[in-house]
Amino acid sequence: MFLHYAMILGMFFLLTGCTQKNPDSRMNTSQVYAEFALGTVCTVNLYDHSSEKVYNDIFSRLFEIENLMSINKADTDVDRINQNAGIKPVQVHQEVIELLEKARDYAELSGGAFDPTVGPLVRLWGIGSADPQIPEQEAIQEALSLINWRDLVIDKEAGTAFLRRSNMMLDLGAIAKGYAADEAAKILSKAGVPGGIIDLGGNIVAYKNKKESNGEYTGFWRIGLQNPLEDRGTYIGILEVQHKSIVTSGIYERYAEINGTRYHHILSTANGYPVDNDLLSVTIIADASMDADALSTAVFALGYEKGRTLIESLDRVEGVFVFADKGIRLTQGAKSMFRLHDAASYCLLTD
Ligand code: ADP
Ligand code: MG
Repeated sequence: MFLHYAMILGMFFLLTGCTQKNPDSRMNTSQVYAEFALGTVCTVNLYDHSSEKVYNDIFSRLFEIENLMSINKADTDVDRINQNAGIKPVQVHQEVIELLEKARDYAELSGGAFDPTVGPLVRLWGIGSADPQIPEQEAIQEALSLINWRDLVIDKEAGTAFLRRSNMMLDLGAIAKGYAADEAAKILSKAGVPGGIIDLGGNIVAYKNKKESNGEYTGFWRIGLQNPLEDRGTYIGILEVQHKSIVTSGIYERYAEINGTRYHHILSTANGYPVDNDLLSVTIIADASMDADALSTAVFALGYEKGRTLIESLDRVEGVFVFADKGIRLTQGAKSMFRLHDAASYCLLTD
């Protein structure tokens, strides 16, 4: 499987990607933990506030969320909802209910471009699986007919969720990592950590502030924006932020090459194919990682015009759009955060 690695400047040692356990809980050393969870490489770097307890608490929580939300494991809450599609409502944890409600809100907000019931189509293409395929048109039509967030019935009081029609399937792959990153940040907050980076396969939380050379936690985090057409770690530019989540959806995150053509993993709920527009990637900067995650997928799927209109209707949400012709557009609030790095290939557009 194609793994996503951290894109954080100054953390290149991360690219070894191995699981590290803090051997002696040394403080005052830069320490990073990396583990495979939620279908991706997850890393947490607390720098000189590294604490084995905090790392363990975070990864326990990530596995707990995986065990509720994954569709690649039997018997998770979301898997049980899928197994009972068209049969009966299923009792699930309250946090699953809440995430489903959020997913449904984003489906409505994006006019269904983001849809948590996209599962049958994701399964059909199998992008990122061992066996990706270009499906027959008939199979695509059948999968499309099963996608409709309005047929996800959530009963908050009863604590149940239900997919109305058999063979419908939830897939929270476009929102769950963002939710998990927010939950990880809550653990940092409770532990009183002054700053750190959480990176769940590219869902980044730049938590609070970076430590400055004078020892004060007042600095900005510098997060590299991956060049969608080049090797990992090749940056178009840098986002400088404090206490924000940064999430990118693009053609390079996960893809399969079939008969010499690349097929990426964000699928159009309109035509059943990988979304094909003039965008290479969309990066969302928001306070909550769940919002940034859902919106990055939604905006990428909607395309630039509609996607930008959507972001601009929301408070404290900014975006960076990278186009196939190497243009870059920024929302108003993103202008002060972004520094172009690869000016030889990319150019900032101001319209
Ligand atoms: P990543 O997983 O690389 O962070 P995204 O957040 O954009 O990327 O999520 C993509 C995943 O979301 C896909 O792998 C799939 O599981 C699911 N997905 C694909 N298309 C859609 C869609 N139109 N709406 C909602 N989820 C989608
Ligand atoms: Mg997403």
